Amino acid sequence: MGMFDGKKGMVFGIANDHSIAWAITEKLHAEGAEMGFTHIPDKNPERPRMERRLRKLVEPIGAKVIMPCDVQNEEDIDAAFAAAKETFGELDFVLHSIAYAPMDDLKGLVVNCSREGFKLAMDISAYSLIALAQRAQHVLKPGGSILTLTYLGGEKVIPGYNMMGICKAALESTTEYLASEMGPMGIRVNAISAGPLKTLSSSAVGEFDLMLKLYEDFSPMRRGVTPEEVGKSGLYLLSDLASGVTGETLHVDGGYHIMG
Ligand code: NDP
Repeated sequence: MGMFDGKKGMVFGIANDHSIAWAITEKLHAEGAEMGFTHIPDKNPERPRMERRLRKLVEPIGAKVIMPCDVQNEEDIDAAFAAAKETFGELDFVLHSIAYAPMDDLKGLVVNCSREGFKLAMDISAYSLIALAQRAQHVLKPGGSILTLTYLGGEKVIPGYNMMGICKAALESTTEYLASEMGPMGIRVNAISAGPLKTLSSSAVGEFDLMLKLYEDFSPMRRGVTPEEVGKSGLYLLSDLASGVTGETLHVDGGYHIMG
């Protein structure tokens, strides 16, 4: 019997099999969860590359919903939660694993980043958690759980992480405010602060290999973390094992964050 038998959830943010959301999904599936998934809308509907990429991964694990959702688009988000409600009735969890910043603004110094780039990055990387929680509050059961992904660059200055650090600071604060407001509804909201993992998003972050090396040299565990380790912690925070945990940012980083 699995820990998630009979549990249902929506997952936002699988781009491919390197995505952190996929590592968490694999764990949830192994424990019996039923899930729906979204992908960024395809620019050319004749060649639905994003949809095809997601379908290839999630159909074999019995995906119940697969649909486009740009988190900047209110109608897309409404449609995703309407589909979740129609398919599942109520939900037990929502996974938010989404971030974006325009390359020029991300690569450059914060002092030079553009207003438009900043607004876009904050909208997709931080506000989107509010946008999902806004809909999720009407579909999540009491005892339900929301989880997002953050990085140490939201707490401390990490060279190369630049404006995304500001977005993550906003995301972590958002996690706390949402947790305090949704606690009375019986809904928990948490974040995982993951160590660096090679994914599509992280390939856009400057100095990524240097970051990995720092973890290997200086973290208490003297190594980076694996997607599987982040997946296991995601499973924990979304499960009843974490029924007393909310507003938390759990570091899954081999302890790197404690080092001075
Ligand atoms: P991925 O690129 O695999 O996942 C990021 C996801 O965000 C993609 O599925 C991407 O879709 C999606 N996305 C971007 N813009 C939008 C949008 N407007 N609407 C809907 N979805 C969107 O990278 P990761 O798995 O690494 O990233 C997941 C989360 O983990 C992010 O919040 C990231 O900051 C965080 N994180 C990552 C770490 C790492 O080292 N990899 C470390 C700590 C935290 P698409 O690609 O199709 O555009």
